[in-house]
Amino acid sequence: MNTMAHHAFKAALVDYDEDLFAPPHWITGELAGHGIEWIAGQHRVPEAVVEAARDTDVVLIQSVRPLLSRAVIQKLEQCRCIVRLGIGYENVAVDAATEQGILVCNAPSYCIDDVADHALALLMAGVRHVARQDRWIRDGRWDRTGARPARRTKGCTMGFIAFGRIARALAERVRGFGMTLLAYDPYLDQEAMARFGAQKVELDELLSRADFLSVHCPLTDDTHHLLGAREFGLMKEGVFVVNTSRGPVIDEAALVDALHAGRVWAAGLDVFEQEPLPLDSPLRAFDNVILTPHVGANSEESVADLYRSGVEITIDVYHGRWPQGVVNPAVEGRLRHDYRRG
Ligand code: NAD
Repeated sequence: MNTMAHHAFKAALVDYDEDLFAPPHWITGELAGHGIEWIAGQHRVPEAVVEAARDTDVVLIQSVRPLLSRAVIQKLEQCRCIVRLGIGYENVAVDAATEQGILVCNAPSYCIDDVADHALALLMAGVRHVARQDRWIRDGRWDRTGARPARRTKGCTMGFIAFGRIARALAERVRGFGMTLLAYDPYLDQEAMARFGAQKVELDELLSRADFLSVHCPLTDDTHHLLGAREFGLMKEGVFVVNTSRGPVIDEAALVDALHAGRVWAAGLDVFEQEPLPLDSPLRAFDNVILTPHVGANSEESVADLYRSGVEITIDVYHGRWPQGVVNPAVEGRLRHDYRRG
């Protein structure tokens, strides 16, 4: 039960992207049924976030804007739990939250299949030159040379950079393609990979063997520019690179050089170092680069599932139950409140 009878329990969504991820209307009523007040806003500067979240118990953020910095979190005196309504949580200063006894949760599974579908769509669109040929036909050009060079996927090698939930869902999808699957993930053993038909290799071996590369790691200090000039230099001539994880995992300038040099044959990119992609980005000039505006997570089902997770976490915290999706279990020793394990 809520131990603070004098204080109405509040949950505040401090920022969201209204184009795809506006919060559904049912949340207000559902949380009110538990005695929880729900406020949703779009606060795009730290001062406004602090103002909106200062007296709230649960602070949720859907966007990837870097709004929950250490300085902001230190001012959230009432906060028990921060929820990143998404998978990646690099925009939350988790260490600062842990130090202050605040739980940090994410929504680890709401869009696994959608991002895997999207990575596959980028891969197939590139392999079969779907986007280019569509552009040509609309321009009045019936020219079948736009289909070249097409690769037969069967017999090729596909490399996964990180082999978490999304990568595994993609591996399940491509298992019928007749490709060799390789994975680089320092935190998983060979057995975990073999269950999804992939073989564990080190990064350099993966780079030198893969015809198709799909990037699926979180953005951390270790993975920032994980693929840079050295790594592009190790890649097989003519590789196809797909990125649906986070833009800064790839050094975009190095990718552009590798595209110019022809070492990278094509790329399918859903995420960029800077979003929205700047109008003068050299990536726009390549005919063999397929661009989507960070929409991998999107589906009717995923948006509903995302907010369902946020509501469940909020209700659990209100009732003093340990919620799903805690990413900082180390917080346990210094929690602001007691939680029961379900
Ligand atoms: P996950 O947590 O299930 O898997 C991440 C994997 O990365 C883990 O297996 C981990 O061991 C591995 N990893 C961690 N550090 C690594 C390193 N230094 N090198 C190699 N591997 C490393 O996450 P997921 O659900 O597969 O999602 C992956 C990423 O996709 C998320 O972190 C997020 O940034 C991104 N994402 C993008 C979209 C989109 O709309 N495009 C949507 C959801 C998630």
